[in-house]
Amino acid sequence: MKFICDDNLGKLAKWLRTLGYDTLFFDPIEDGELISKALKENRVVLSRDTHLSRFKLKLGERLLRIESDQPLEQLNQVVQHFKLKTDKSQLFSRCLVCNQPLEKVEKEKIKDRLYPYVYQTQNNFMRCPGCDRIFWSATHVERMRRTLSEEGVI
Ligand SMILES: [Zn+2]
Repeated sequence: MKFICDDNLGKLAKWLRTLGYDTLFFDPIEDGELISKALKENRVVLSRDTHLSRFKLKLGERLLRIESDQPLEQLNQVVQHFKLKTDKSQLFSRCLVCNQPLEKVEKEKIKDRLYPYVYQTQNNFMRCPGCDRIFWSATHVERMRRTLSEEGVI
C-alpha cells in the first residue's frame, strides 16, 4: 500500500516511511495535484481536511480523513484502518527525508564521511540514492523502535 499525505501531515509521512511505506509528502500542495498524483500512482490519500471529501467519489476507499493532530495517534489510525501488518525487516528501509528506498553501502567506501567513533563502532550502513545521506542504526533508531512498540504499532 502506498500513500500520499496532505501538507498538514509531514510527521505522519515520516512515521509511515519509518515503517517502510512508500509515502509522498509535498508542502505545500494543491488539492487538485494531490488527488491527481494519488490517482495516477494508485496511492491512498491521507488528509486532515474535511473538504477533500468532495473527491470521495473518485477516490473511494483510497481516502482516509485523519482525526487526531498527534502524529503517533494518526499513525495508529492508519495502521488500524487498513489493518497494516508491519514487516519488521522493512523498518528503517526508506529515507525519512525523500522517501527513496535505502541501499546498503560498504563501510570502507564511506569511511571518509564518517566520524571515527561511528566508523569504529558501527557496521551496517545504508545510503539514500536520492539525497546521499548516510544512515546507521544508532540510539535514535532504538528510540523510534521503542516508541512504535509502546504505541502498539509494531
Ligand atoms: Zn534521502
